[in-house]
Amino acid sequence: MDIVQCVECGAPLDDGKECRDYLHEMITWDFEDFNGVGKIHHLTVLAYNLQHPSLYSRKGLENAKVSLQEFVRNPSSFREHDELHKESLASDVRDWKITGTAEDRGAYPVKPDWTILASDVVRGGLGAYVDNVKKWSESVLSALEVSGNLD
Ligand SMILES: [Zn+2]
Repeated sequence: MDIVQCVECGAPLDDGKECRDYLHEMITWDFEDFNGVGKIHHLTVLAYNLQHPSLYSRKGLENAKVSLQEFVRNPSSFREHDELHKESLASDVRDWKITGTAEDRGAYPVKPDWTILASDVVRGGLGAYVDNVKKWSESVLSALEVSGNLD
């Protein structure tokens, strides 16, 4: 039997699951405990989406890379960032789209070599989730850096 892989992040897909099934599992954890593990929800979404860049428009992808660098290097910046950018990112005032469309999709010139995938974080379980998301987001940033996708 052929091994099925995610076309975007290259994850081996077994049990008939797709990457987004793992994302949904994590988002469920986030919202069941929004003031606990949910505090890292923004990192979960960024790490996942950056590994699936076609979810973004080209400009949305650039913006996500900047946000990830900011949050990984200065974790306390999130609240500040959130306040600062809430208005500028409101969809009615934004003059560009975050979400990828058929005409405008994010992609990497060189495919990064991801070391941690969404499925790995889910398999680590809820107890290790916060730590694993931190490691995951750091690994995404370094994979982008190593592959020259942060320039
Ligand atoms: Zn994937």
